[in-house]
Amino acid sequence: MIEINILKFKMKNFKKYVYIKTFGCQMNVYDSILISEGLLEIGYELTENIETADLILFNTCAVRGLAEHKALSELGATKKLKTKKPDLQIGMLGCVAQNLGKKILKSYPFVDFVLGTKEMYKLPTYLNYKTDKARLEVSLDNKIVGYKTKKNLPNSVSVFVTIIRGCSNFCSYCIVPFVRGKEESRNIDEIFDEVKILVGNGVKEIVLLGQNVNIYGKDINIKLESLLQKLNEIDGLYRIRYFTSHPKDVNEDFIKSIKSIPKICEHIHIPFQSGSNRILKSMNRKYTREEYIEKVNMIRDYIPNIAITTDIIVGYPTETEKDFVDTLELLKVCKLDNIYSFKYSPRAGTLSYKNLEDDISKEIKEKRLEILNNLENEISRQINNSLIGTSQEVLWENLKKTKTTLDIKNNFTIEGRTRTFKKVFANTSIQNAEKSIGKLEVVEIKKATAYSLTAERK
Ligand code: SF4
Repeated sequence: MIEINILKFKMKNFKKYVYIKTFGCQMNVYDSILISEGLLEIGYELTENIETADLILFNTCAVRGLAEHKALSELGATKKLKTKKPDLQIGMLGCVAQNLGKKILKSYPFVDFVLGTKEMYKLPTYLNYKTDKARLEVSLDNKIVGYKTKKNLPNSVSVFVTIIRGCSNFCSYCIVPFVRGKEESRNIDEIFDEVKILVGNGVKEIVLLGQNVNIYGKDINIKLESLLQKLNEIDGLYRIRYFTSHPKDVNEDFIKSIKSIPKICEHIHIPFQSGSNRILKSMNRKYTREEYIEKVNMIRDYIPNIAITTDIIVGYPTETEKDFVDTLELLKVCKLDNIYSFKYSPRAGTLSYKNLEDDISKEIKEKRLEILNNLENEISRQINNSLIGTSQEVLWENLKKTKTTLDIKNNFTIEGRTRTFKKVFANTSIQNAEKSIGKLEVVEIKKATAYSLTAERK
Protein backbone atom coordinates (compact mmCIF):
# COMPACT_ATOMS: atom_id res chain seq x y z
CA MET A 1 0.00 0.00 0.00
CA ILE A 2 2.79 2.44 0.89
CA GLU A 3 4.37 2.05 -2.53
CA ILE A 4 1.08 2.81 -4.22
CA ASN A 5 0.77 6.06 -2.26
CA ILE A 6 4.25 7.18 -3.26
CA LEU A 7 3.40 6.59 -6.90
CA LYS A 8 0.20 8.54 -6.54
CA PHE A 9 2.14 11.50 -5.19
CA LYS A 10 4.75 11.34 -7.93
CA MET A 11 2.22 11.17 -10.71
CA LYS A 12 -0.08 13.86 -9.47
CA ASN A 13 0.94 16.54 -11.94
CA PHE A 14 1.03 14.69 -15.22
CA LYS A 15 -1.17 12.26 -17.03
CA LYS A 16 -0.05 8.84 -18.20
CA TYR A 17 -1.85 6.47 -20.50
CA VAL A 18 -2.08 2.71 -20.30
CA TYR A 19 -3.03 0.41 -23.16
CA ILE A 20 -4.18 -3.06 -22.04
CA LYS A 21 -4.77 -5.89 -24.48
CA THR A 22 -6.51 -8.96 -23.09
CA PHE A 23 -6.32 -12.42 -24.63
CA GLY A 24 -8.38 -15.51 -23.79
CA CYS A 25 -11.15 -16.17 -21.34
CA GLN A 26 -13.56 -14.12 -19.22
CA MET A 27 -11.30 -14.58 -16.20
CA ASN A 28 -8.61 -12.63 -18.03
CA VAL A 29 -11.13 -9.92 -18.84
CA TYR A 30 -11.94 -9.70 -15.15
CA ASP A 31 -8.23 -9.55 -14.24
CA SER A 32 -7.63 -6.77 -16.77
CA ILE A 33 -10.42 -4.77 -15.15
CA LEU A 34 -8.78 -5.22 -11.74
CA ILE A 35 -5.42 -4.18 -13.14
CA SER A 36 -6.84 -1.09 -14.82
CA GLU A 37 -8.63 -0.27 -11.56
CA GLY A 38 -5.28 -0.23 -9.72
CA LEU A 39 -3.68 1.89 -12.44
CA LEU A 40 -6.51 4.43 -12.51
CA GLU A 41 -5.99 4.82 -8.80
CA ILE A 42 -2.39 5.91 -9.29
CA GLY A 43 -3.21 8.38 -12.01
CA TYR A 44 -3.20 6.43 -15.27
CA GLU A 45 -5.91 6.77 -17.90
CA LEU A 46 -6.91 4.03 -20.29
CA THR A 47 -6.25 4.49 -23.99
CA GLU A 48 -7.31 2.39 -26.93
CA ASN A 49 -4.52 3.84 -29.06
CA ILE A 50 -1.31 1.91 -28.48
CA GLU A 51 0.75 4.72 -30.08
CA THR A 52 -0.20 7.17 -27.31
CA ALA A 53 0.45 4.79 -24.42
CA ASP A 54 3.12 5.29 -21.74
CA LEU A 55 2.50 1.78 -20.50
CA ILE A 56 1.56 -1.20 -22.67
CA LEU A 57 0.28 -4.38 -21.03
CA PHE A 58 -0.56 -7.74 -22.57
CA ASN A 59 -2.68 -9.93 -20.33
CA THR A 60 -2.20 -13.29 -21.95
CA CYS A 61 -3.76 -16.76 -22.30
CA ALA A 62 -1.79 -20.00 -22.73
CA VAL A 63 -4.73 -22.41 -23.07
CA ARG A 64 -4.49 -22.59 -26.86
CA GLY A 65 -1.46 -22.18 -29.08
CA LEU A 66 -3.16 -19.58 -31.25
CA ALA A 67 -3.81 -17.10 -28.43
CA GLU A 68 -0.22 -17.50 -27.24
CA HIS A 69 1.22 -16.86 -30.72
CA LYS A 70 -0.98 -13.83 -31.16
CA ALA A 71 0.14 -12.32 -27.86
CA LEU A 72 3.82 -12.89 -28.65
CA SER A 73 3.50 -11.44 -32.11
CA GLU A 74 1.77 -8.31 -30.77
CA LEU A 75 4.47 -8.02 -28.12
CA GLY A 76 7.13 -8.22 -30.88
CA ALA A 77 5.44 -5.39 -32.76
CA THR A 78 5.88 -3.01 -29.81
CA LYS A 79 9.65 -2.95 -30.27
CA LYS A 80 9.48 -0.08 -32.75
CA LEU A 81 7.32 1.95 -30.35
CA LYS A 82 9.92 1.53 -27.64
CA THR A 83 12.64 2.70 -30.02
CA LYS A 84 10.66 5.89 -30.73
CA LYS A 85 9.76 6.43 -27.08
CA PRO A 86 12.43 5.05 -24.73
CA ASP A 87 10.40 5.86 -21.57
CA LEU A 88 7.59 3.62 -22.71
CA GLN A 89 7.09 0.68 -20.33
CA ILE A 90 6.02 -2.69 -21.70
CA GLY A 91 4.76 -5.57 -19.56
CA MET A 92 3.71 -9.12 -20.27
CA LEU A 93 1.20 -10.52 -17.76
CA GLY A 94 -0.77 -13.67 -17.08
CA CYS A 95 -0.52 -17.25 -18.28
CA VAL A 96 2.00 -16.88 -21.15
CA ALA A 97 4.14 -14.70 -18.89
CA GLN A 98 3.95 -17.42 -16.24
CA ASN A 99 4.79 -20.19 -18.68
CA LEU A 100 7.49 -18.59 -20.82
CA GLY A 101 8.89 -15.94 -18.44
CA LYS A 102 12.63 -16.33 -19.04
CA LYS A 103 12.22 -17.06 -22.74
CA ILE A 104 10.22 -13.86 -23.18
CA LEU A 105 12.94 -11.79 -21.55
CA LYS A 106 15.54 -13.42 -23.78
CA SER A 107 13.65 -13.07 -27.06
CA TYR A 108 12.12 -9.64 -26.37
CA PRO A 109 14.82 -7.72 -24.46
CA PHE A 110 12.89 -4.43 -24.73
CA VAL A 111 10.22 -5.78 -22.33
CA ASP A 112 10.32 -4.08 -18.88
CA PHE A 113 8.56 -6.68 -16.80
CA VAL A 114 7.04 -10.13 -17.01
CA LEU A 115 4.54 -10.84 -14.23
CA GLY A 116 2.94 -14.25 -13.80
CA THR A 117 -0.61 -15.07 -12.81
CA LYS A 118 -0.12 -14.39 -9.11
CA GLU A 119 2.28 -11.46 -9.32
CA MET A 120 0.42 -9.31 -11.84
CA TYR A 121 -1.93 -8.03 -9.14
CA LYS A 122 1.05 -6.19 -7.63
CA LEU A 123 1.69 -4.32 -10.85
CA PRO A 124 1.79 -0.75 -9.45
CA THR A 125 4.70 -1.67 -7.21
CA TYR A 126 6.79 -2.57 -10.27
CA LEU A 127 6.15 0.53 -12.33
CA ASN A 128 8.90 2.73 -10.99
CA TYR A 129 11.43 -0.05 -11.15
CA LYS A 130 14.20 1.55 -13.20
CA THR A 131 17.16 -0.60 -14.14
CA ASP A 132 18.78 -2.05 -17.22
CA LYS A 133 17.49 -5.44 -16.21
CA ALA A 134 13.88 -6.38 -16.81
CA ARG A 135 11.82 -7.68 -13.92
CA LEU A 136 10.65 -11.30 -13.86
CA GLU A 137 8.16 -12.41 -11.19
CA VAL A 138 6.45 -15.74 -11.72
CA SER A 139 6.24 -17.44 -8.33
CA LEU A 140 3.11 -19.54 -7.87
CA ASP A 141 3.77 -20.07 -4.16
CA ASN A 142 2.17 -16.94 -2.76
CA LYS A 143 -1.47 -16.29 -2.07
CA ILE A 144 -2.94 -13.65 -4.33
CA VAL A 145 -2.88 -10.28 -2.65
CA GLY A 146 -3.35 -6.88 -4.13
CA TYR A 147 -6.33 -5.44 -5.80
CA LYS A 148 -9.77 -5.27 -4.42
CA THR A 149 -12.34 -3.91 -6.78
CA LYS A 150 -13.52 -0.40 -6.22
CA LYS A 151 -15.96 2.07 -7.63
CA ASN A 152 -14.33 2.50 -11.05
CA LEU A 153 -15.42 -0.91 -12.26
CA PRO A 154 -17.55 -0.90 -15.40
CA ASN A 155 -21.20 -0.18 -14.95
CA SER A 156 -22.45 -2.53 -17.64
CA VAL A 157 -25.59 -4.56 -17.01
CA SER A 158 -23.77 -7.87 -16.63
CA VAL A 159 -20.23 -8.29 -15.28
CA PHE A 160 -17.83 -11.08 -14.40
CA VAL A 161 -16.61 -11.73 -10.88
CA THR A 162 -13.92 -14.34 -10.33
CA ILE A 163 -14.61 -16.37 -7.18
CA ILE A 164 -11.98 -19.11 -7.43
CA ARG A 165 -8.64 -19.09 -9.19
CA GLY A 166 -6.39 -21.91 -10.35
CA CYS A 167 -7.24 -25.57 -10.76
CA SER A 168 -6.05 -28.81 -9.17
CA ASN A 169 -7.58 -31.24 -11.66
CA PHE A 170 -4.71 -31.75 -14.10
CA CYS A 171 -6.74 -32.76 -17.14
CA SER A 172 -4.09 -34.18 -19.43
CA TYR A 173 -4.39 -31.53 -22.17
CA CYS A 174 -4.69 -28.45 -19.95
CA ILE A 175 -2.02 -25.94 -19.02
CA VAL A 176 -4.13 -24.12 -16.40
CA PRO A 177 -2.91 -25.98 -13.26
CA PHE A 178 0.69 -25.27 -14.33
CA VAL A 179 0.24 -21.57 -15.02
CA ARG A 180 -2.41 -20.62 -12.45
CA GLY A 181 -1.52 -22.92 -9.59
CA LYS A 182 -3.85 -24.88 -7.37
CA GLU A 183 -7.44 -23.90 -6.53
CA GLU A 184 -7.67 -20.79 -4.38
CA SER A 185 -11.08 -19.48 -3.31
CA ARG A 186 -11.64 -15.81 -2.68
CA ASN A 187 -12.95 -14.71 0.68
CA ILE A 188 -16.75 -14.80 0.76
CA ASP A 189 -17.09 -11.33 2.36
CA GLU A 190 -14.72 -9.81 -0.19
CA ILE A 191 -16.87 -11.20 -3.03
CA PHE A 192 -20.06 -10.03 -1.33
CA ASP A 193 -18.68 -6.48 -0.87
CA GLU A 194 -17.50 -6.39 -4.48
CA VAL A 195 -20.89 -7.44 -5.81
CA LYS A 196 -22.60 -4.84 -3.62
CA ILE A 197 -20.36 -2.13 -5.10
CA LEU A 198 -21.11 -3.39 -8.61
CA VAL A 199 -24.85 -3.36 -7.97
CA GLY A 200 -24.52 0.15 -6.56
CA ASN A 201 -22.92 1.08 -9.90
CA GLY A 202 -25.97 -0.19 -11.79
CA VAL A 203 -24.93 -3.80 -12.48
CA LYS A 204 -27.95 -6.14 -12.64
CA GLU A 205 -26.37 -9.51 -13.34
CA ILE A 206 -23.16 -11.08 -12.11
CA VAL A 207 -21.40 -14.01 -13.68
CA LEU A 208 -19.34 -15.87 -11.09
CA LEU A 209 -16.20 -17.29 -12.67
CA GLY A 210 -13.84 -20.11 -11.93
CA GLN A 211 -12.16 -22.97 -13.78
CA ASN A 212 -14.40 -25.14 -11.61
CA VAL A 213 -16.84 -23.04 -9.59
CA ASN A 214 -18.43 -26.04 -7.86
CA ILE A 215 -15.28 -26.55 -5.85
CA TYR A 216 -15.51 -22.97 -4.53
CA GLY A 217 -14.82 -22.79 -0.80
CA LYS A 218 -13.34 -26.27 -0.35
CA ASP A 219 -10.02 -24.71 0.69
CA ILE A 220 -11.66 -22.22 3.09
CA ASN A 221 -14.40 -24.48 4.42
CA ILE A 222 -17.36 -22.82 2.73
CA LYS A 223 -19.84 -24.13 0.18
CA LEU A 224 -20.66 -22.47 -3.12
CA GLU A 225 -24.32 -22.62 -2.09
CA SER A 226 -23.58 -20.36 0.91
CA LEU A 227 -22.04 -17.75 -1.35
CA LEU A 228 -24.96 -17.96 -3.77
CA GLN A 229 -27.49 -17.56 -0.95
CA LYS A 230 -25.65 -14.54 0.40
CA LEU A 231 -25.48 -12.88 -3.02
CA ASN A 232 -29.15 -13.64 -3.59
CA GLU A 233 -29.96 -11.25 -0.70
CA ILE A 234 -28.45 -8.20 -2.44
CA ASP A 235 -31.20 -5.73 -3.34
CA GLY A 236 -31.04 -4.51 -6.92
CA LEU A 237 -29.22 -7.61 -8.19
CA TYR A 238 -31.54 -9.42 -10.62
CA ARG A 239 -29.61 -12.43 -11.78
CA ILE A 240 -26.68 -14.68 -10.81
CA ARG A 241 -24.85 -16.96 -13.24
CA TYR A 242 -21.83 -19.21 -12.69
CA PHE A 243 -19.27 -20.75 -15.08
CA THR A 244 -17.77 -23.49 -15.30
CA SER A 245 -18.93 -26.65 -13.52
CA HIS A 246 -16.77 -29.78 -13.75
CA PRO A 247 -19.14 -32.75 -14.26
CA LYS A 248 -17.53 -34.73 -11.44
CA ASP A 249 -18.37 -31.96 -8.94
CA VAL A 250 -22.00 -31.38 -9.90
CA ASN A 251 -24.18 -33.29 -7.45
CA GLU A 252 -27.81 -33.55 -6.41
CA ASP A 253 -27.40 -31.36 -3.31
CA PHE A 254 -26.01 -28.55 -5.41
CA ILE A 255 -28.80 -28.77 -7.99
CA LYS A 256 -31.47 -28.90 -5.26
CA SER A 257 -30.07 -25.84 -3.61
CA ILE A 258 -29.69 -23.72 -6.79
CA LYS A 259 -33.29 -24.56 -7.64
CA SER A 260 -34.32 -22.94 -4.37
CA ILE A 261 -32.33 -19.70 -4.91
CA PRO A 262 -34.53 -17.39 -7.01
CA LYS A 263 -31.83 -15.24 -8.65
CA ILE A 264 -29.81 -18.18 -9.97
CA CYS A 265 -30.47 -18.48 -13.69
CA GLU A 266 -31.53 -21.75 -15.29
CA HIS A 267 -28.28 -22.40 -17.13
CA ILE A 268 -25.34 -24.65 -16.36
CA HIS A 269 -22.11 -25.08 -18.32
CA ILE A 270 -20.71 -28.59 -17.85
CA PRO A 271 -17.94 -29.50 -20.31
CA PHE A 272 -17.93 -33.15 -21.36
CA GLN A 273 -14.94 -32.81 -23.74
CA SER A 274 -15.36 -36.27 -25.31
CA GLY A 275 -18.04 -38.93 -25.57
CA SER A 276 -15.53 -41.77 -25.60
CA ASN A 277 -14.74 -43.42 -22.27
CA ARG A 278 -11.29 -44.37 -23.53
CA ILE A 279 -10.49 -40.75 -24.40
CA LEU A 280 -12.06 -39.42 -21.18
CA LYS A 281 -9.77 -41.72 -19.21
CA SER A 282 -6.74 -40.58 -21.16
CA MET A 283 -7.83 -36.95 -20.56
CA ASN A 284 -7.97 -37.67 -16.80
CA ARG A 285 -11.52 -36.27 -16.64
CA LYS A 286 -12.67 -38.62 -13.83
CA TYR A 287 -16.15 -39.44 -15.18
CA THR A 288 -17.61 -41.68 -17.85
CA ARG A 289 -20.11 -40.87 -20.60
CA GLU A 290 -22.73 -42.84 -18.65
CA GLU A 291 -22.13 -40.74 -15.53
CA TYR A 292 -22.37 -37.57 -17.61
CA ILE A 293 -25.74 -38.66 -19.03
CA GLU A 294 -26.96 -39.49 -15.50
CA LYS A 295 -26.00 -35.99 -14.31
CA VAL A 296 -27.75 -34.32 -17.24
CA ASN A 297 -30.91 -36.34 -16.52
CA MET A 298 -30.73 -35.57 -12.80
CA ILE A 299 -30.34 -31.82 -13.50
CA ARG A 300 -33.30 -31.85 -15.87
CA ASP A 301 -35.42 -33.82 -13.38
CA TYR A 302 -35.01 -31.01 -10.85
CA ILE A 303 -35.00 -28.05 -13.26
CA PRO A 304 -36.80 -29.12 -16.46
CA ASN A 305 -36.37 -25.83 -18.35
CA ILE A 306 -32.64 -25.49 -17.65
CA ALA A 307 -30.26 -24.85 -20.56
CA ILE A 308 -27.13 -26.96 -20.57
CA THR A 309 -24.02 -26.02 -22.53
CA THR A 310 -20.68 -27.77 -22.87
CA ASP A 311 -17.10 -27.72 -24.20
CA ILE A 312 -15.88 -30.41 -26.58
CA ILE A 313 -12.40 -31.14 -27.90
CA VAL A 314 -11.95 -32.95 -31.21
CA GLY A 315 -8.76 -34.58 -32.47
CA TYR A 316 -7.32 -35.46 -29.06
CA PRO A 317 -4.32 -37.80 -29.61
CA THR A 318 -5.35 -41.31 -30.71
CA GLU A 319 -9.01 -40.26 -31.23
CA THR A 320 -10.45 -42.78 -33.72
CA GLU A 321 -13.53 -42.43 -35.90
CA LYS A 322 -15.33 -44.59 -33.34
CA ASP A 323 -14.31 -42.26 -30.49
CA PHE A 324 -15.52 -39.29 -32.49
CA VAL A 325 -18.84 -41.01 -33.24
CA ASP A 326 -19.19 -41.59 -29.47
CA THR A 327 -18.87 -37.83 -29.01
CA LEU A 328 -21.56 -37.17 -31.61
CA GLU A 329 -23.80 -39.79 -30.00
CA LEU A 330 -23.36 -38.28 -26.54
CA LEU A 331 -24.37 -34.90 -27.92
CA LYS A 332 -27.42 -36.44 -29.62
CA VAL A 333 -28.49 -38.19 -26.41
CA CYS A 334 -28.02 -35.14 -24.18
CA LYS A 335 -29.35 -32.57 -26.71
CA LEU A 336 -27.40 -29.68 -25.26
CA ASP A 337 -28.35 -26.06 -25.89
CA ASN A 338 -24.95 -24.94 -27.12
CA ILE A 339 -21.39 -26.16 -27.43
CA TYR A 340 -17.98 -24.51 -27.47
CA SER A 341 -15.91 -26.77 -29.68
CA PHE A 342 -12.16 -26.80 -30.10
CA LYS A 343 -9.46 -28.63 -32.00
CA TYR A 344 -6.92 -30.27 -29.71
CA SER A 345 -3.96 -27.94 -29.27
CA PRO A 346 -0.84 -29.51 -27.71
CA ARG A 347 0.55 -27.37 -24.89
CA ALA A 348 4.12 -27.89 -23.74
CA GLY A 349 4.29 -29.07 -20.14
CA THR A 350 0.95 -30.86 -20.08
CA LEU A 351 0.62 -34.62 -19.62
CA SER A 352 -0.76 -35.27 -23.09
CA TYR A 353 2.06 -33.23 -24.65
CA LYS A 354 4.65 -35.28 -22.76
CA ASN A 355 3.08 -38.70 -23.29
CA LEU A 356 1.12 -38.62 -26.55
CA GLU A 357 1.91 -37.69 -30.09
CA ASP A 358 -0.40 -35.10 -31.70
CA ASP A 359 -1.28 -37.73 -34.30
CA ILE A 360 -4.59 -36.46 -35.71
CA SER A 361 -4.02 -34.35 -38.81
CA LYS A 362 -5.20 -30.77 -39.08
CA GLU A 363 -7.57 -31.79 -41.89
CA ILE A 364 -9.23 -34.51 -39.80
CA LYS A 365 -9.54 -32.18 -36.81
CA GLU A 366 -11.17 -29.55 -39.01
CA LYS A 367 -13.52 -32.05 -40.60
CA ARG A 368 -14.60 -33.42 -37.22
CA LEU A 369 -15.12 -29.92 -35.91
CA GLU A 370 -17.33 -29.12 -38.88
CA ILE A 371 -19.44 -32.29 -38.44
CA LEU A 372 -19.80 -31.61 -34.73
CA ASN A 373 -20.82 -27.98 -35.23
CA ASN A 374 -23.34 -28.92 -37.92
CA LEU A 375 -24.93 -31.43 -35.54
CA GLU A 376 -25.06 -28.87 -32.74
CA ASN A 377 -26.57 -26.24 -35.06
CA GLU A 378 -29.39 -28.63 -35.81
CA ILE A 379 -29.95 -29.41 -32.11
CA SER A 380 -29.80 -25.71 -31.12
CA ARG A 381 -32.18 -24.80 -33.94
CA GLN A 382 -34.71 -27.40 -32.75
CA ILE A 383 -34.45 -26.27 -29.12
CA ASN A 384 -34.76 -22.59 -30.06
CA ASN A 385 -37.66 -23.26 -32.46
CA SER A 386 -39.55 -24.89 -29.61
CA LEU A 387 -39.46 -21.51 -27.83
CA ILE A 388 -41.40 -19.70 -30.58
CA GLY A 389 -44.69 -18.50 -29.13
CA THR A 390 -43.49 -18.73 -25.51
CA SER A 391 -43.04 -15.83 -23.10
CA GLN A 392 -39.51 -15.31 -21.83
CA GLU A 393 -38.02 -12.98 -19.27
CA VAL A 394 -35.22 -10.97 -20.87
CA LEU A 395 -32.63 -8.71 -19.27
CA TRP A 396 -31.79 -6.05 -21.86
CA GLU A 397 -28.07 -5.37 -22.10
CA ASN A 398 -27.12 -3.50 -25.28
CA LEU A 399 -28.41 -1.33 -28.04
CA LYS A 400 -27.29 -1.04 -31.64
CA LYS A 401 -28.48 0.69 -34.78
CA THR A 402 -30.15 -1.66 -37.22
CA LYS A 403 -28.55 -1.36 -40.64
CA THR A 404 -31.39 -2.50 -42.84
CA THR A 405 -34.92 -1.86 -41.78
CA LEU A 406 -37.92 -0.29 -43.44
CA ASP A 407 -39.37 0.55 -40.06
CA ILE A 408 -38.02 4.06 -39.51
CA LYS A 409 -39.51 4.39 -36.02
CA ASN A 410 -38.12 1.13 -34.69
CA ASN A 411 -34.73 1.19 -36.36
CA PHE A 412 -32.69 0.17 -33.33
CA THR A 413 -32.03 -3.35 -32.10
CA ILE A 414 -31.98 -4.07 -28.44
CA GLU A 415 -30.11 -7.14 -27.27
CA GLY A 416 -30.52 -9.17 -24.09
CA ARG A 417 -30.55 -12.68 -22.70
CA THR A 418 -33.14 -15.05 -21.31
CA ARG A 419 -32.53 -16.65 -17.94
CA THR A 420 -31.35 -19.67 -19.94
CA PHE A 421 -28.54 -17.58 -21.52
CA LYS A 422 -30.12 -17.37 -24.96
CA LYS A 423 -29.50 -14.21 -26.91
CA VAL A 424 -32.67 -12.26 -27.74
CA PHE A 425 -33.06 -9.36 -30.17
CA ALA A 426 -35.98 -6.98 -30.64
CA ASN A 427 -36.51 -3.98 -32.88
CA THR A 428 -37.33 -0.82 -31.05
CA SER A 429 -37.10 2.97 -31.11
CA ILE A 430 -34.08 4.60 -29.53
CA GLN A 431 -36.20 6.17 -26.77
CA ASN A 432 -37.68 2.81 -25.78
CA ALA A 433 -34.35 1.07 -26.02
CA GLU A 434 -32.48 3.54 -23.83
CA LYS A 435 -35.14 3.28 -21.15
CA SER A 436 -34.97 -0.51 -21.29
CA ILE A 437 -31.26 -1.19 -20.85
CA GLY A 438 -30.76 -2.88 -17.48
CA LYS A 439 -34.45 -3.72 -17.16
CA LEU A 440 -36.22 -7.07 -17.06
CA GLU A 441 -39.08 -7.55 -19.48
CA VAL A 442 -41.28 -10.48 -20.42
CA VAL A 443 -41.43 -10.77 -24.22
CA GLU A 444 -42.97 -13.13 -26.72
CA ILE A 445 -40.58 -15.09 -28.93
CA LYS A 446 -41.46 -14.72 -32.61
CA LYS A 447 -38.52 -16.21 -34.49
CA ALA A 448 -35.53 -18.44 -33.79
CA THR A 449 -32.25 -19.50 -35.35
CA ALA A 450 -29.60 -21.85 -33.99
CA TYR A 451 -27.88 -18.85 -32.39
CA SER A 452 -30.56 -16.45 -31.19
CA LEU A 453 -34.21 -15.57 -30.67
CA THR A 454 -36.19 -12.62 -31.98
CA ALA A 455 -38.84 -11.16 -29.73
CA GLU A 456 -41.76 -8.82 -29.99
CA ARG A 457 -42.10 -6.33 -27.16
CA LYS A 458 -45.57 -6.14 -25.68
S1 SF4 B 1 -10.82 -28.74 -14.90
FE1 SF4 B 1 -9.34 -29.61 -16.33
S2 SF4 B 1 -9.73 -28.42 -18.22
FE2 SF4 B 1 -10.66 -27.27 -16.57
S3 SF4 B 1 -9.05 -25.82 -15.93
FE3 SF4 B 1 -8.88 -27.62 -14.59
S4 SF4 B 1 -7.33 -28.89 -15.60
FE4 SF4 B 1 -8.04 -27.39 -17.11
